[in-house]
Amino acid sequence: MPIKNRLAEMQEEITAWRRDLHENPEILFETHRTSALVAEKLKEFGCDEIVTGLGRTGVVGVIKGKTNTSGKVLGLRADMDALPILEATGLDYASKTPGAMHACGHDGHTAMLLGAAKYLAETRNFDGTAVVIFQPAEEGGGGGKEMCDDGMMERFGIQEVYGMHNWPGMPVGSFGIRSGAFFAATDQFEIKVVGRGGHAAKPQQTIDPIVAASQVVTALQSIASRNADPVEQVVVSVTSFESSSTAFNVIPAHVTLRGTIRTMSKESRALAEERLKAIVPSAAAAFGAKAEIEWLPGYPAMVNTLEQTEFAAEVAKSVSGDCVEAAITMGGEDFAYMLEERPGAYILVGNGDSADVHNPEYNFNDEAIPAGCSWWAEIVEKRMPA
Ligand SMILES: [Zn+2]
Ligand SMILES: [Zn+2]
Repeated sequence: MPIKNRLAEMQEEITAWRRDLHENPEILFETHRTSALVAEKLKEFGCDEIVTGLGRTGVVGVIKGKTNTSGKVLGLRADMDALPILEATGLDYASKTPGAMHACGHDGHTAMLLGAAKYLAETRNFDGTAVVIFQPAEEGGGGGKEMCDDGMMERFGIQEVYGMHNWPGMPVGSFGIRSGAFFAATDQFEIKVVGRGGHAAKPQQTIDPIVAASQVVTALQSIASRNADPVEQVVVSVTSFESSSTAFNVIPAHVTLRGTIRTMSKESRALAEERLKAIVPSAAAAFGAKAEIEWLPGYPAMVNTLEQTEFAAEVAKSVSGDCVEAAITMGGEDFAYMLEERPGAYILVGNGDSADVHNPEYNFNDEAIPAGCSWWAEIVEKRMPA
């Protein structure tokens, strides 16, 4: 297994960084300690340029190769944020902040990219420029989008972007990837069904929003089952049904529904939004109720480009011997915004038989570090050979 020797040597050091990050999780854009630590390390490694404050708390480091005849610039991205979860691992380096936890392994992602940055700054065995990107707020805040909106791609001349996520259930240090749509667009909606409240024993005097909202929930299921092309993935989930009364004998005045729609293409995303906006008022009106819709656009679908995916898979094979075709996931990923701006690829690295991400028992597997770091280093050295 051609793990780079230098990176294998560094595993203990990188593990120590990872555990320190794990102990000090920060949520969304509040990654102040993490960002400062990343910037300090990049400086210590001798990066040629370090820029902080992109996308509020994002950090970028520039590492120039021995030569730059290729003129190529690759962006390598890691996420730094934790989740609002109360940790239940019982680890001796468990979160010191109650209610915040690195339950998605972004501590591992940050540590691995730092490891690769240290190696690349030390060896510079490539012809071109590597730009390491550390973003905040992957978990719902759109930190990657904010870094793009701050002009990151243009400012550093980034031509291709690469990303990596650990994956529970895949053997430690093994890889999986797929070309095309990989992670879903994650739109959300809030619907207020407004009727007329009254006594539960006198329904004839009311417009019952419970009955109307129930029809709305049922009718929304026809988007995936009747409107979308059956070979396309579309998920419509109503996740909250909340009325304005908790009494047993009151018909409430209104009901609020919340939920999410997951799609894999621009077309099915637009179709789902259009159908929701048509179905909801009609279904409510059939029972005399009114409906107000708030559409909350989320991350777009994350789409890997073919050439970069094939290259990333080839590198993964050279690092760990194999790279499987990963299944589509209906989860969302903020790296989608970077892939909308530049060609690139996002890969999964096995976390072994661990609890799933976003579970209070989850922990990043430090045994994945040598494979993850080697993949990063080889992406740079093989894409821009010295
Ligand atoms: Zn996550
Ligand atoms: Zn994650």
